[in-house]
Amino acid sequence: MLIQLKAALQKLSSEQQWQVRSVEAILSELKHDVNVQAILQKTGWTMDDLKVYGTDLIRYQQESRHCASCPGLDKCPNKPQGYRSKPYVDETRQLFFMYEPCQLYIKAQEIERRKTLFQTLQIPVSLSEIRFRDIERDDYNISAITRALEFVSDFDARRGVGLYVYGPFGVGKTYLMAAIAGHLVDRGRSVFFVHMPALFRELKAGFESARYLEMVRALETVDLLILDDIGAEQLTPWARDEVLSPLLTTRTTHLKPILYTSNLPLEGLTEHFSETVRGELDRLKAFRLIERIRSYTEAVMMSGPNRRRHP
Ligand code: ADP
Ligand code: MG
Repeated sequence: MLIQLKAALQKLSSEQQWQVRSVEAILSELKHDVNVQAILQKTGWTMDDLKVYGTDLIRYQQESRHCASCPGLDKCPNKPQGYRSKPYVDETRQLFFMYEPCQLYIKAQEIERRKTLFQTLQIPVSLSEIRFRDIERDDYNISAITRALEFVSDFDARRGVGLYVYGPFGVGKTYLMAAIAGHLVDRGRSVFFVHMPALFRELKAGFESARYLEMVRALETVDLLILDDIGAEQLTPWARDEVLSPLLTTRTTHLKPILYTSNLPLEGLTEHFSETVRGELDRLKAFRLIERIRSYTEAVMMSGPNRRRHP
């Protein structure tokens, strides 16, 4: 027991000796550090005055070295990863070390934040980069672009009124939606950008699973829902009556807007939504659904050349 204690004491003192030696070495190295220099200037202290902060300085020095040869965020040896301490002097002339995130960490956080703000379903990833400045204007799309700009600038004042953008294939409806989504996500709004034909396939495949419930919740609660290509989906009475109708009701009740794009004008959608097997009942249900869309959107016609042929 006594021998063990002696050994422990010896070890401790050799560690202390090592520390004293390394503090000396580190102080001479840190003389040139910008943060340390700033502190010396501010306080009039000498390097010797910093000796009492030995342990913190050792850590600061190690972290600075790691950062100087940064191996990337996922291999960052600092603890916690992506952080490093920085010395400060407060009003009472106390030196303390504050942990600050590095630029890589801040950037990764921003990417994560955007991921949670911006959800997509079968929308090309490249569309998340599109902003209004990327949208070429012509005589055909200028009025739709103007309405889109009004939509984003009046977002809160519109009290849940969205847009119903319709027109032929390739004129840039989805592209314009991407610009709206990007603009709002940049300003901290949550957006779910959904390709309609994929939506019902997904929901059907995961019916009542956790993923299904999670998706329905996101569809209902995001600040902006974009239903791209409505009318192109395979609509069943289930999709219409159990998914779409309740979704629209929930969102409009909470004054949350939906943007639609379609190849069909709203009147054309009535037919699409009635095309199920139960005759009169289906027509009535389709009619009610269309009326709800109509009451909560501004219709915007978009025409022009098919830009897909001229990339
Ligand atoms: P739609 O949804 O009307 O079928 P898209 O939005 O998919 O058409 O447009 C097809 C492609 O044409 C886009 O991916 C984009 O490359 C290009 N495009 C469309 N509108 C514009 C525009 N205003 N400015 C620049 N490129 C555009
Ligand atoms: Mg489209």
